[in-house]
Amino acid sequence: MAKKSKKILITGGAGFIGSHLAEKLLSQGNEVFVIDNLSTGSLKNIKHLRKNKKFHFIKGDILDKKTVEKEARKVDQIFHLAAAVGVKTVIEKPLESFLLNLKGTEIILEAASKYKLPILITSTSEVYGKNEKLPFKETDDRIYGSAYHNRWGYGLSKGGDEFLALAYYREKNLKAVITRLFNVIGPRQTGAYGMVVPRFIKQALAGDPITIYGDGYQSRCFGYIDDVVNALIILLNSPKAPGEIFNLGSDEEITIKDLAKKIIILTSSKSKITFIPHTKIFGPNFEDMLHRRPDLSKIKQFLGYKPKYSLEDSLKKIISFFNEK
Ligand code: UDP
Repeated sequence: MAKKSKKILITGGAGFIGSHLAEKLLSQGNEVFVIDNLSTGSLKNIKHLRKNKKFHFIKGDILDKKTVEKEARKVDQIFHLAAAVGVKTVIEKPLESFLLNLKGTEIILEAASKYKLPILITSTSEVYGKNEKLPFKETDDRIYGSAYHNRWGYGLSKGGDEFLALAYYREKNLKAVITRLFNVIGPRQTGAYGMVVPRFIKQALAGDPITIYGDGYQSRCFGYIDDVVNALIILLNSPKAPGEIFNLGSDEEITIKDLAKKIIILTSSKSKITFIPHTKIFGPNFEDMLHRRPDLSKIKQFLGYKPKYSLEDSLKKIISFFNEK
């Protein structure tokens, strides 16, 4: 863990994960600079941080090289989180999402390289694509569907980001570390971009039908935000992490149907479950990935990482958050 106070830049720091990361870094006494264009991030997420003198918010775009360089030169390290968010965004805005992920990451890496700053790049479990060999290990092949399916543009662009970061590490000695995040959940996550947990909880609390896409036998592992943020901070400060890729999240797997049932029970809801074909939501050219589970042995060995929160604990915390709202 970082002991000395540092100056830290977070791109996408007004988003769900970024705002929790900012909060944790501030609580450790660090000075935090956030760049966010508020396209999917929100001022509400960072409202409680803005009274802290060590928190600086810059409304700006990571595609704007000048802004990025201006902030990067002030800091000691960078967490790069800004990216296209959610399957819905990627399907609806394929061009913007693809370019934002690739060009944005290149600009950030170039700035980190210029000022010799350690940088953590957040990648995603989407990079494993349609690989069916579970659990996914960092060294596994990545298998994408055809270019006619917008969804794969996300995994491809993030996969490109990983290559870029590793190339900077190999050719320019940039201290870049990569994490593949697996379905992170927690308070402040919005369902507006398709994420299943906030959507189901909102539906359950309102007594509305729970909308399962497909047959509900697809499965995911949901990692709790506090576990994830703690690991991100340790990783960026770990001298052996640069040049490495780490899966990060939880390996407790659940089908989407069982998730719906669990949320109904935990909220004592009277909601009924409905099944909607994916194509009805995302259009005819859509492919979901059936199962997704990380092999966490690398990060466990490396950091002694052990998620503290079970899925049930995580859901209870998020439900209380929605109830308080
Ligand atoms: N999903 C669902 N109902 C919803 C939103 C999502 O059944 O209202 C499904 C979605 O099709 C996917 C799973 O839940 O199989 C996880 O979706 P999410 O968008 O949260 O994450 P990702 O698809 O990136 O794993």
